[in-house]
Amino acid sequence: MKDQNLIKITNDRIDKLFREAQNAINIEFSRRYIIIMENLSKKMNITLPANIKKSYCKKCKNLYKRPNFRIKKGLIIIKCENCGNIRRIPINQQFQSQNKF
Ligand SMILES: [Zn+2]
Repeated sequence: MKDQNLIKITNDRIDKLFREAQNAINIEFSRRYIIIMENLSKKMNITLPANIKKSYCKKCKNLYKRPNFRIKKGLIIIKCENCGNIRRIPINQQFQSQNKF
């Protein structure tokens, strides 16, 4: 059984780390915060919220700032401006979670 209190603390920390990543002074710092956040969620076996998961590149941990995106056959195709990694997200999923792109 999972400790509910511990889950709450972890979620708070994930939230804080994500905010720090968004306000970080440079890309290295924000990447660092995202790596810490990912490790924390893995360690605690918690899935990151959908809006957080979609807002950074999984490959280089770069927060999308000016992503290159196109819509094709019900998918949103996002290309990372840093490493060029391509990601496909179904459109209906996008609307459900009300992402801020
Ligand atoms: Zn990338």
